Amino acid sequence: MNKLDYKRIADQFKSIVGVDNVLSQHIDLALYDCDAETLDSSIPDLVVLPGNTKEVQAIVKIANSHGVPFTARGAGTGLSGGATTVCGGISIVLTRMTKILNIDPVHHTASVEAGATNSSVSQAAAIYNLCFAPDPSSQMASTIGGNIAENAGGPHTLKYGTTVDHILGMKIILPNGNLIVCNDRHPCLGLDWLSLFTGSEGTLGIVSEAILKLSPLPEKTETALIYFSTLEEGGNTVSKFIASGIIPCAMEMIDKLTLNAVEDAFALGLDRGAEALLIIEIDGSKINVDREKQQIDKILNNCNTLGYAWAQSATQRVAMWKARKAAFGALGRIAPHGYVLDGVVPRSKLSEAIKGIKEIGNKYSVTIANIFHAGDGNLHPCLLYNQTDEKQLEIVLKAAHEILKLCVDLGGSLTGEHGIGIEKRSAMAFSFSVADLQAMEAVKRTFDPKLLCNPGKIIPNPGLCGESGMRPLFRHKLALGC
Ligand SMILES: Cc1cc2nc3c(=O)[nH]c(=O)nc-3n(C[C@H](O)[C@H](O)[C@H](O)COP(=O)(O)OP(=O)(O)OC[C@H]3O[C@@H](n4cnc5c(N)ncnc54)[C@H](O)[C@@H]3O)c2cc1C
Repeated sequence: MNKLDYKRIADQFKSIVGVDNVLSQHIDLALYDCDAETLDSSIPDLVVLPGNTKEVQAIVKIANSHGVPFTARGAGTGLSGGATTVCGGISIVLTRMTKILNIDPVHHTASVEAGATNSSVSQAAAIYNLCFAPDPSSQMASTIGGNIAENAGGPHTLKYGTTVDHILGMKIILPNGNLIVCNDRHPCLGLDWLSLFTGSEGTLGIVSEAILKLSPLPEKTETALIYFSTLEEGGNTVSKFIASGIIPCAMEMIDKLTLNAVEDAFALGLDRGAEALLIIEIDGSKINVDREKQQIDKILNNCNTLGYAWAQSATQRVAMWKARKAAFGALGRIAPHGYVLDGVVPRSKLSEAIKGIKEIGNKYSVTIANIFHAGDGNLHPCLLYNQTDEKQLEIVLKAAHEILKLCVDLGGSLTGEHGIGIEKRSAMAFSFSVADLQAMEAVKRTFDPKLLCNPGKIIPNPGLCGESGMRPLFRHKLALGC
């Protein structure tokens, strides 16, 4: 595709979405060269911002007729390079489509456009005492379309599940421009589109609208901070809570390095001497919450903690959550860049994983901060470094590769919520056989025979199937078979 062809496509797009909603100048395009995973980048050839489902459909039809790759983009907060146009082509940005179309307080549903932010849905539902339960820490910015594509979770996933558990319907534009409507009137009939599309990282089509299941806000919530002298002890205590039959709505852990960075940034009064801090939250009916709180007190009195405290007010609860929700930002005080990983291990292997990550950090002399959704074994080790130092970067990539392998070897998986994207493509062979990957490719080709819809993501090149080499970085449109 040469510049002239893109000029022609841009003109066609302008006739649909208006002149202001098509970007073709380098200075504008460069703003869309990556997502929050900044190691991989590639500037799109065109950016288009549709305003409704019909416009998305028309754009996809045009892109398809020209044989040009296209990639949906929400807020660009993804952490695996999913929205990065690694094969060039068109970035279809849905952030103008923010309408909450309807809230149904009787059936507990919300109909929304895909560009609506996660938190805007819960805000709109709050007047009916309802919320959208999946709560990624990025919820102020990340969009429902991005949440669906990545099957986003969050601190409260432990009890309430991930996005797939809260989707009732979708409008999806297939790569050939056809619109399919999966609505909540017959969700159990035929093939389960909703499960197939949720978590498919924008590789099978573009979601333009969704019907979401809303959950009642809990009658009562209790939150506690618990300090430990080792991360392993924290991991063991998490297993004890679960073994007791309690399902907290959240169990989040940070290590000493992170705790001190948060304390430097926000002076929350955290115990700087602790090696680990666990936030536990329980919610539900008053009777249940009171009973579970007593059970937790009992368990903690028989554990090796350095102390713990329940929030005494809503303000204190918000402050406790700040220790977790602002943790990644606070790490910017330690190093200019952080590479956030997303491995999962069985809960029973938490201590082993923590030990292994520490050993990998020591082996490569890389500083690693640990932040994790401890309740569901979802680890976010954050490798701290300076991206402009090529040598450091190489070491960090090696350490990251080993950490992911460690998670899989412990019986876990490559990703809990951030997706495979471009980042973990070459590690897919850790978890899947050649036959598995070929079956995924067959599904992809059924929906997208021309391989135009978010190409280069999830499935390794045929040559990489069965291999598990170090991942290359994508900083240009590389030969990805696209
Ligand atoms: C500080 C921070 C904290 C985070 N915390 C969490 C967390 O707690 N839990 C969690 O799960 N994630 C978390 N994330 C990752 C990220 O926010 C989620 O993956 C989120 O769902 C991405 O939404 P987005 O709108 O930014 O999507 P983008 O980054 O724009 O896109 C992500 C993927 O979705 C596809 N896509 C986007 N819109 C559509 C659409 N309408 N139709 C089809 N495909 C589409 C893109 O092609 C891409 O593959 C965090 C990220 C940051 C930066």
